[in-house]
Amino acid sequence: MSNQEIMMSCRKCGSKHHVGEMNYDSDGSSLICTGCAGKQFNKPSSSTGTRQKLEKPKKIRYICTSCNYKFSRDPGKHRVDVCPYCSKEGNIEEYKEQGAEKLLREATEI
Ligand SMILES: [Zn+2]
Ligand SMILES: [Zn+2]
Repeated sequence: MSNQEIMMSCRKCGSKHHVGEMNYDSDGSSLICTGCAGKQFNKPSSSTGTRQKLEKPKKIRYICTSCNYKFSRDPGKHRVDVCPYCSKEGNIEEYKEQGAEKLLREATEI
């Protein structure tokens, strides 16, 4: 009577699901179940690139606690354990860019 009763089999796992629970695969040609679609999004590297998330270089803000120099680097491409300003090693921390950081610094300024 209604479309909701139609069962379809998932292209990935082969299990049958109601049509309403099916999703298109990343290539848009085959139907897969919600469970498989969820797994698909969690895949670390899909060359089909439905999301732009992975395209941007992952830069992280760092601060040198020795000279307070702040810089942003991609830890996958550059060394982040050496300060580009004072060249000291081992004083680099991840810099949390939040208003709380300022408060924290004032609180610890003894
Ligand atoms: Zn499935
Ligand atoms: Zn430094």
